[in-house]
Amino acid sequence: MSKIEMKTPLVEMDGDEMTRIIWQILKDELIYPFIDLKSEYYDLGLKHRDETNDQVTIDASNATKKYGVAVKCATITPNAARVKEYNLKKMYKSPNGTIRAILDGTVFRTPIQVKGITPTVRTWKKPLTIARHAYGDVYRNVEMQIDRPGKVTMTFTPDDGSEKKTVTVFDFKGPGIVQAQHNIDASITSFARSCFEYALSEKKDLWFASKDTISKQYDHRFKDIFNDMYEAEYKESFKKEGIEYFYTLIDDAVARVMKSEGGFIWACKNYDGDVMSDMISSAFGSLAMMTSVLVSPEGYYEYEAAHGTVQRHYYKHLDGEETSTNSVATIFAWTGALRKRGELDRIPALMDFADALEKSTLGTIESGKMTKDLALITNIKDPIVLNTREFIVEVRKNLEKKLA
Ligand code: NAP
Ligand code: MG
Repeated sequence: MSKIEMKTPLVEMDGDEMTRIIWQILKDELIYPFIDLKSEYYDLGLKHRDETNDQVTIDASNATKKYGVAVKCATITPNAARVKEYNLKKMYKSPNGTIRAILDGTVFRTPIQVKGITPTVRTWKKPLTIARHAYGDVYRNVEMQIDRPGKVTMTFTPDDGSEKKTVTVFDFKGPGIVQAQHNIDASITSFARSCFEYALSEKKDLWFASKDTISKQYDHRFKDIFNDMYEAEYKESFKKEGIEYFYTLIDDAVARVMKSEGGFIWACKNYDGDVMSDMISSAFGSLAMMTSVLVSPEGYYEYEAAHGTVQRHYYKHLDGEETSTNSVATIFAWTGALRKRGELDRIPALMDFADALEKSTLGTIESGKMTKDLALITNIKDPIVLNTREFIVEVRKNLEKKLA
């Protein structure tokens, strides 16, 4: 069998711990035998980030802007313990934060659904994608405790010296608390654009919700920015693809989501996304079965698993113990990136390969062969628990059959 040829390179960001182990097995078993892989490799493993003073993360992000598609392994975000463990020069920022700041993107998380792992919500037949706006609101608030009677006001002082504007927040008669939040049009606009672009790319409906009836200026601004962009730039193409943009109040959205079949993209304000993404991932089964893609408003894509480096398993691995770590989300990060590369470069064989690899992965689980985390929650009778490598090897066997 001849290997699939690529045109443009894929940006490959290697990572840490157990997922770094998986990364290598996955490439050896599921990529190299089938694809003449063209990738520009960046080692985001913590040791190399430290050696390059984290320049490698910046270089990898810029390469993603150049080539348009990246696939990333999970990486350690250093804390005090990691600084000691790796003898780091400093406590580097989260690589994902650095990448997101450079690409100005939005993260879309989608559960991977498979027969035998039933979502807690009975009606959910198709995966539900959550997009979280990752700037501002309560995450950039300022707050104050009020310990005696007094008035709190909010004042805007224009840089150009024009007249100040002041509103009274509250006239306190006793102790209390106060908080101010902000957001910026540019950030909301780029969030909206990423959502519309991703909905078109995935050919899925897009929902957005806020509380504009109560928050007549703040939340209403979000609603207006989404609506104006939709009307001016996306209405026609959505119609052509047969997809819909739907706005509703956040509480109505929650009620509808619980009764829906899934299968759409739910764009959430920062706090809503924080809360709802945890609800969705646990209701669909497991964090190990959740993919994540960062989509920039310019249309750059960075694919990864939603979970971390699975540190606990890595230490078992280092101690020579057997591990049964789930590689599905990492496999789907690769298929997402390969499919997108194939789509952009018009290589149908690459897109077909991505489909075949996903089907082989799910087929392996559906045949009762899975890692321990899934064996604990599946309703398949007497599942066969495979170790980390065995699972990937089993997927390869299925894939070879499919491609033969
Ligand atoms: P984690 O790596 O997501 O793992 C937490 C626990 O979830 C694991 O101990 C394991 O549970 C289960 N789990 C997660 N992924 C699994 C998989 N693929 N297969 C089987 N079980 C899985 O989170 P963490 O241990 O809190 O974080 C470890 C490191 O990852 C941290 O340094 C953090 O900075 C980093 N991190 C990176 C990213 C990213 O790069 N996107 C995201 C999150 C965290 P059991 O132990 O019960 O088996
Ligand atoms: Mg959260």
